[in-house]
Amino acid sequence: MRYLDLVRGPATRFGEKTAVVEGDRRITFRELDDRVGRLGAALRARGLRPGDRVALLAANELEYVEIQAACLRSGFALVPLNIRLTERELGFILSDCSPGLFVAGRAEEKRAASLAAEVGIPHVLALGEPQELPSYDDALRQAVPDPGADPEDPELPATILYTSGTTGLPKGAVVDRLGFTARVMTNAVELQTSAADVHQASLPMFHIAAFLSYAHTAVGGTVVMLPEFDPERALRTMERERVTTTVLVPTIITMLLDCSVIDEVDLSALRLVIYGGSSIEPGPLRRALERFGCGFHQQYGMTETGGQTILRPADHDPADTERLSSGGTEAIGLEVRVVDEEDRPLPAGEVGEIVCRGPSVMLQYWNRPEATAEALRGGWFHTGDMGYRDSRGYLHITDRRNDMIITGGENVYPREVEAVLIEHPDIADVAVVGLPDPKWGQTVTAVLVGQAPADEELSAWARQRLAGYKVPRRWVRVPELPRNVTGKVLKHQLRAQLAK
Ligand code: AMP
Repeated sequence: MRYLDLVRGPATRFGEKTAVVEGDRRITFRELDDRVGRLGAALRARGLRPGDRVALLAANELEYVEIQAACLRSGFALVPLNIRLTERELGFILSDCSPGLFVAGRAEEKRAASLAAEVGIPHVLALGEPQELPSYDDALRQAVPDPGADPEDPELPATILYTSGTTGLPKGAVVDRLGFTARVMTNAVELQTSAADVHQASLPMFHIAAFLSYAHTAVGGTVVMLPEFDPERALRTMERERVTTTVLVPTIITMLLDCSVIDEVDLSALRLVIYGGSSIEPGPLRRALERFGCGFHQQYGMTETGGQTILRPADHDPADTERLSSGGTEAIGLEVRVVDEEDRPLPAGEVGEIVCRGPSVMLQYWNRPEATAEALRGGWFHTGDMGYRDSRGYLHITDRRNDMIITGGENVYPREVEAVLIEHPDIADVAVVGLPDPKWGQTVTAVLVGQAPADEELSAWARQRLAGYKVPRRWVRVPELPRNVTGKVLKHQLRAQLAK
């Protein structure tokens, strides 16, 4: 076999051990292996073939791991969807990837039913106890075990992860089965995951952080699902399940440190916190190191390359500020360079674009040959992030070339928000920028030209068209936007003005 099967090995070695926990629900590796086989058979019986897509709109529910594992084993591609997107945004993605099956989470039955009808998805199944849609559990119970597919092509997509990128429209980053295998193995090796680990999935499973869960499942570790993030529940679950590893983003680290129960809970089982997604200031990081008293492993990466592209293992010397604020060095199997505008490698200390290559980098964007060729020019993936290497070889991320905003761990692409806002009849011109915010990292700020209505009215209007986290929190009116000679808005200048 030239790619990974997430549960077959652990089911043989650790059959009766708990594989996944969600609240009071638990599943062993043996049960998981059986359900993965049944799901594959159920989908083949519905006409799905290797290469077909399976869309999943769900919170972090127990079934997440089994659905991904079944797709991997049978050669289907899982398209995990962000539950915070609006129907309009979801409709675009579903039309783009045309799935053969849509699986709805417990709270998503209604939206899934209407989206499936609108997009024309042939099969829909719903988790839990659905009112209208066919039940996922019934489909598994009725499945007739078959010999399975076991397709050998390692370039079949294992998952397609949608990201908005710089064009404003979501693009699907295709992770083939070999790439999936590489992401899981890199994480397993770098984090030294083992069957003794209990990993809390604190971030949504539709995010690349899911690979951290899979890196635990693959070696027989237990994954604890948190369906909704709430600081107190996260801490109490860590204590109850004796969690050994978890994944956080800087905003959540601060929320946990500020939570009233932080000093009551016993976190002595915790050995490692994996964090990333945006940079964290040395101050809060030192506080976190002190309170959690475990290793902190920093990851830099993106949907297209995997979260584990550049890492800084738990080697923080709290006094070494340069190292503490660095992104780290390349992970096993990845090559990273800092290059100039002509893709020539730059010496240490000089800022350029970060590019990388390796087996965990996406194969392509789904149905977007031009965007793929542009992003992967010369065989290197161009991250759009700017950075430099210090004299000790550690990489520092300085800026984002595409001005993406990160607020509370969620990425907001200004061009996507601008494209929606400019449709408002009273907005003549608009630029969206992120401004520093002590709690959320950055706040989405819209700078408007025109006779726009009051802030509340604008927010309500935007909320109907964009996921809540993309809706600007601040609205600023200006007579005109600063632009360069080619008409491009000077966002650096705008941010500097607004920060005053
Ligand atoms: P996504 O594709 O959603 O995973 O977002 C990827 C982007 O998040 C990267 O291109 C970076 O701009 C940013 N990012 C991710 N991890 C880090 C990190 N550890 N430090 C700084 N920025 C990060």
